[in-house]
Amino acid sequence: MQKRRTARIPGFYRLPLGERLESLVAAGWLTEDEARSISGPAAGGFDMEIANAMSENVIGVHALPLGICLNLLINGKERVAPMVVEEPSVVAAASNAARLTREGGGFTVETTGSVMAAQIQVKGLAEPTAAAQLIQAEAPSLLEAVNALIPNMVNRGGGAREIETRVIPLPSQPEARMLCVHVHVDCRDAMGANTLNTVAEGLAPRVQEIAGGEIGLRILTNYADRRLVRVSCRLPPESLRTKKWPDGGLVRDHIVDASRFAEADTYRAVTHNKGFMNGLDAVLVATGQDWRAAEAAAHAYASRTGAYGPLATWRKDREGFLEGEAELPLAVGTVGGAARAHPGVRLSLRLGRIEDAADLASLAASVGLASNLAALRALATDGIQRGHMALHARTVAIEAGATGDLIHRVSTTLRSEGCFRLERAKEILKKLPED
Ligand code: NAD
Repeated sequence: MQKRRTARIPGFYRLPLGERLESLVAAGWLTEDEARSISGPAAGGFDMEIANAMSENVIGVHALPLGICLNLLINGKERVAPMVVEEPSVVAAASNAARLTREGGGFTVETTGSVMAAQIQVKGLAEPTAAAQLIQAEAPSLLEAVNALIPNMVNRGGGAREIETRVIPLPSQPEARMLCVHVHVDCRDAMGANTLNTVAEGLAPRVQEIAGGEIGLRILTNYADRRLVRVSCRLPPESLRTKKWPDGGLVRDHIVDASRFAEADTYRAVTHNKGFMNGLDAVLVATGQDWRAAEAAAHAYASRTGAYGPLATWRKDREGFLEGEAELPLAVGTVGGAARAHPGVRLSLRLGRIEDAADLASLAASVGLASNLAALRALATDGIQRGHMALHARTVAIEAGATGDLIHRVSTTLRSEGCFRLERAKEILKKLPED
């Protein structure tokens, strides 16, 4: 009988690398072959030929560490999330915060579907509003024409959903308004950029026939505001205690204050959102997603009221629990893009037991909310520098020239001294015997 997979592996971070992999194999998250493929000399198994085919002017492969966020409980299910990130403390922070959320039942997530939009710009129209009406009158035949361009997507249950027309004034010449036709397409488990671009270019001649004018740009919008993910969690105040802050209720109140600060101030909101995207982006990079598109959409959504605000907000609920929630557009795919070719991406999708695009969005958004919680809890109590610098010590030790065992020995001394300067790391290294 297969053992029930758990996302709780206490003491995981203290295990040596090899034992961490063994524990993931034992817990059923990785097979032995998979564990071998992400460690050892050919880590990632990323063939130069694949790399060469994926990009241009390729001269090599640039690796980043693959970590794992444990402790996730999402919609009642045990989950782990692959995370690729160069910044120390992001993975540890997300894992710790995910553990805290379990006491309140973990994360609850929902998504609003997988509809993306292509934009077809029509310029030089004397009467753009009248042209928009002509387009609307032809909407049924335009939807059919879209479906004819993407028959496989239709067979999968996706395809054209709506033709929307928008008349947009140009700020510099308000009299020269343009028409923009939005074609909404359900692209199922694909991120959809190429699919939507095919639709935009394929439908543009028909749009011009109907509307007249001159066709301008034809491309998807990355502002995927019909493809939202909503994530929330609730934590009893006791779970927020730290050694130095035994009153969890006080920690909760400070976190709520920190949320209100971000709601009131753009300077704070940007950093608040950076903390959220720390976790979310790391999952996107591990799973080969277009994280630039996700970033652009997230920040536009954070500004949807006209002022830039926090993606995640925190409040005290009626029972005194800390309640956090976030909503953002997230266009991700489990087919196409890098998932096709990159073996590391395919492994991450398997490791996270990611079922489809909506499931990937749910996982990434949960890790985002966990990261935001970790940052706020640290900021609201001890500050982030102590924990952050402790992890940073390893990077300083490597920069000073330490290798193998010496990395641990130098970083331990740096931590015990509370000094993280490169010069000091070099002095410590010089004094250590090389045995
Ligand atoms: P894609 O071109 O690989 O298309 C997805 C393919 O998967 C389609 O051929 C589809 O038929 C197939 N498919 C198989 N099973 C499917 C399923 N269950 N659901 C949906 N499709 C299924 O990829 P894409 O998602 O159209 O585009 C994503 C790529 O485009 C990314 O690599 C992205 O970086 C890139 N891109 C992005 C932009 C942008 O502005 N964000 C612009 C251009 C290209």
